[in-house]
Amino acid sequence: MIFLAATSNKDKIIEFHRILGHLGIEFKTAEELGIELPEVEENGTTFAENALLKARSGAEVSGYPTLADDSGICVDALGGAPGIYSARYSGPEGDSRGDKNAANNAKLLRELGDLPLEKRTAHYTCAIACVFPDGRELVTEGYCFGHIGFEERGTNGFGYDPLVLINTEAKATEGAAPGELTFGEIPSDVKDTMSHRSRALEKMCELLRSEL
Ligand code: IMP
Repeated sequence: MIFLAATSNKDKIIEFHRILGHLGIEFKTAEELGIELPEVEENGTTFAENALLKARSGAEVSGYPTLADDSGICVDALGGAPGIYSARYSGPEGDSRGDKNAANNAKLLRELGDLPLEKRTAHYTCAIACVFPDGRELVTEGYCFGHIGFEERGTNGFGYDPLVLINTEAKATEGAAPGELTFGEIPSDVKDTMSHRSRALEKMCELLRSEL
């Protein structure tokens, strides 16, 4: 069964196949289906709303069941910021070299200042939405808990990964102590086993199993 993946990020599509492929779903990009997706204004107030906006638009335009995601990092000491604004936290420009990740990470470190490590708790959130052309809508969320360190470490992953110290016990669960390593310092296949995205996709797998 063909589903539209409402993303052009190849790594995400590989992960969609890894976790949902055994349900008999084949994910295609809009380009592979020969359609052009309109730009969706992500004006929701939650990750779930934004993922749904993208999935609804994809299903309407393509006529295929559509999977979309929205994700970001929520820092407790900042009242949950940057949250749904994670990608554009430091503004649209990036730093002097146009590097948005570096500018976002620098802003996060500035905002937290010298707050002690035990108060620098944070979690990644990922919402996955699946919308069928007949109007059925499914949404799941997954979380991955850590602490914001004091400097960037490691070159793996992307975005905020070099700043996030992975909680030790039971793989990045809530309330655990900060570990030694950031997500930037572990291989991506290890991150995949505990990431917010994989956790949301596992929950979506359960919902789709009874829906298909
Ligand atoms: P998107 O929903 O994948 O576009 O992610 C939105 C933004 O959230 C990204 O640009 C990153 O800043 C941040 N983000 C989401 N997931 C991750 C992650 O796994 N590692 C690091 N940053 C992430």
